[in-house]
Formats: sequence, C-alpha cells, structure tokens
Amino acid sequence: KPVVAVVGRPNVGKSSLVNRIIGRREAVVEDVPGVTRDRVAYDASWQGREFTLVDTGGWETSVSGLAAMVARQAEYAAQAADVILFVVDATVGVTDTDEAVIRVLRSTKRPVVLAANKVDGPLQDADALELWNLGVGEPHPVSALHGRGSGDLLDAVLAALPEEAPREEEETDEGGPRRVALIGRPNVGKSSLLNRLAGEDRVVVDSVAGTTRDAVDELIELGGQTWKFIDTAGIRRRFRALQGADYYATMRTGTALERAEVAVVLLDVSESLADQDIRVIEQVVESGRALVLAFNKWDLLDEERRYYLEKEIDRQLGRVSWAPRVNISARTGRHVEKLVPALETSLGSWDTRISTGRLNSWLKELVAATPPPVRGGRQPKILFATQADVRPPHFILFTTGFLEENYRRFIERRLREDFGFEGSPIKLSMRIRE
Ligand code: GDP
Repeated sequence: KPVVAVVGRPNVGKSSLVNRIIGRREAVVEDVPGVTRDRVAYDASWQGREFTLVDTGGWETSVSGLAAMVARQAEYAAQAADVILFVVDATVGVTDTDEAVIRVLRSTKRPVVLAANKVDGPLQDADALELWNLGVGEPHPVSALHGRGSGDLLDAVLAALPEEAPREEEETDEGGPRRVALIGRPNVGKSSLLNRLAGEDRVVVDSVAGTTRDAVDELIELGGQTWKFIDTAGIRRRFRALQGADYYATMRTGTALERAEVAVVLLDVSESLADQDIRVIEQVVESGRALVLAFNKWDLLDEERRYYLEKEIDRQLGRVSWAPRVNISARTGRHVEKLVPALETSLGSWDTRISTGRLNSWLKELVAATPPPVRGGRQPKILFATQADVRPPHFILFTTGFLEENYRRFIERRLREDFGFEGSPIKLSMRIRE
C-alpha cells in the first residue's frame, strides 16, 4: 500500500485533516500545539484506492526551533512516503517555516500536494497567489473541520500516487481449494500419508519407474473441505534412483512449494533428524509458505527414542518453534485427522492482516516499555509501522536509525505472542532515515 504523509507546522490542522480523511470524528483535536496523539498511521481509502495515512504531528516531542523540527519531520516523511500532503494554515498565510519545509521537500523530489486549511469558501485571490508562489502546484482549499474541499484534495492525492502495481499473478482462485505441498526427504512416508489421506480405494500404485500420470495434483476431501495436494505424481512415482539425489529432491520441493500455500514437512521419528530434514524446513521458511510439521512413523517410537527426539526438536527446530506439530502414523492412521486443524491454523495465520491503527498502538506501547537500544550514541526512533502484505504477513518499520537484529527478533517474538501467527513465517523489514 502506498504511504501518504501529512506534513505541516503544528496547529495547522494536520490531525483534523487526518481524521476527516479516515472518517473519524472522535479523535482528539485541540487548539494546542504539540497535542499528543495515540497513533500516527492509519488505513485509509478513497475511490476504492487504499493507502496508509501518516500523521507526522506525533513525531517530535521536544520543540526546539520550530522550523528545524518541522523540516526534519518533512525529511522523515519524504523518506517514508510516496506522496506528501503539505498543509498550511490559510488564515495565517505562508510562514518562513513553511518555506523552509518546501525547500526540503523539493530536494527530495517526492510529489507534494498542497492543502490550504481553514478555508470555508473559495480562496481569496491574494491568498491563492501567495500559495502558488510556494512552487508546489495548485493549492487545494479545505476545511478539515467542516469537511469542505476534502474530496477534491483526495482526488489530487490519488493522482499523485504511484501507479498501482499490478496484482501478482497468483494461482489462487479465491474460494478454490487450498494448495498443500507434502514434502520431506525420501522414505519419510509421503506416499504412505498421501494414500492414507486419499483413501485406500483411490490408491494408484505405479510400479513402473517413470510412468507419468495425467493428474499431477490431487483433490482430496478432508474435514468437510476439498484440498489440493500439489505434485502428487512426484510423490507417487517411484523415482528411487533420482530421489536419492539431493539435487532433484531440492528442485522438486522447490517447484511444489512455489505452487503451494502451505507445506506439510514430514519427519521420520524412527531416525535422527537429518541435515536434509532441516534443509527442507528452511526451504519452506524461505519460500514464505505456511508450515505444518508432521512427525511420522509414531508407531515405531519407543521411550528411549522419544527422549532423544525431544532433544533433537529442542536443538534443531527452534527456528520454527511457531509451526504446529502433529504426531502421526501414516501406516496405522493414528492422528492423521489432526492434520486438518493444523493446516487451517497455519493458513489462517498466513492470511492475517493487522490494521495499521491496531499495529501502531500496539507498537507504541511496546516501544515505550522497551525502547530500541542506543546505537552509536543515538536512540533510533520507530516512527510507525505498516503491514505491507499478507501470505505471509510482511511488516515494515519506518525508523530513524538501524535496529539491531536482536531488537527486530524481539519485535517479531512479541508480534507472535500478541497476535498469534502460529504456522506462518513473518517478514519484518526496516526503512531507515539515518
Ligand atoms: P516417501 O519416500 O516419503 O514417499 O515414503 P514412503 O511412503 O514410500 O514410505 C517409506 C517407507 O516407510 C515405506 O516402507 C512405508 O511403508 C514406511 N512408512 C511410512 N509411514 C509409516 C509409518 O507411519 N509407520 C511405519 N512403521 N512405517 C511407515
């Protein structure tokens, strides 16, 4: 989603304008410079186009030199935003501070839309002339308080937004069956599980190596819904020779993952976890697909092996501790039905979108309690956050400095604690204004 930042001197009506645009009336608006706000970023839309609206008014707390402060705010905003909505107070006219800000904005080459606030009718010629002289194009008269002119202003903002990126070609036919890849190293029990899921009557045994089947994917009804299992021909076909080769196994897993939404990684509990198991799991995480871990051959597990298995899980699977686990036996059918709720959980997390408002009030509390560590004598500030994408959830933090790896991990951990995301990888990126 594109970002629109609202910039301007304190008290020109930025927050009222923001509230007007997002259609919220109850928000705090006081005629006091530097009124604090809960949130700085909001989900907004106009004419069906969605964007994130950022109120930069909350970015500075200490007012030391108004012009410098606002200029800095504008600089941050320009870094973070696709369009700057620059607000001036038409009842005051253009001030030195406004001019300083315009200089900053011009150097950043971001599109600027100029709003002349507190105008209850058409602009007076003299005022209009003064505003045109700022050199950022047509001034749009608005009254944030009464709503007048905000439609035209938003039309101008939309026109300045970057072209909408064409939606990624996704295989997903909305509402169609969800796509599952059954993966794991050879002999973990993929084809046994597939047969178990599909029902014995539908089993097709290809005893001839290299036999091709028409249906590469299989539709299987489980728990009252239809699932699409990807590349089942590759599982059913007995390429024993090729399956032994890592290269082909990795390639096959890669193509299956590309088409899948969620991966079930099978692990064989009768043997130690192998490097190849870990690599398959990493492949899933890197692909950004949702994940379920299925510990198969549970019927072969005895006390002793179980003890070691738990150690192995602790030691080697910490990185995916968020993935749901099912302990199954493809041979006996034990707990195979538990796959469905696990798949649903992971896909639900994968699809999750947190609203910008909720995300930022959460983040504000988090940062207040545990600020980012000082780095090179400077305290990096997190200006706001937005969830840029789903499948998997992708968050962008707009900051004034580099956030240490540890701190980013901390944020991810807290995101998981507070919002769930069981079974889905999370992407977290930073956009920094050093
Ligand atoms: P794939 O290479 O991953 O498709 O694995 P297969 O499904 O061909 O299984 C490999 C071997 O493990 C076969 O001999 C299966 O009978 C056996 N196997 C699969 N699942 C189980 C299980 O849950 N318990 C036991 N005891 N054996 C299993």
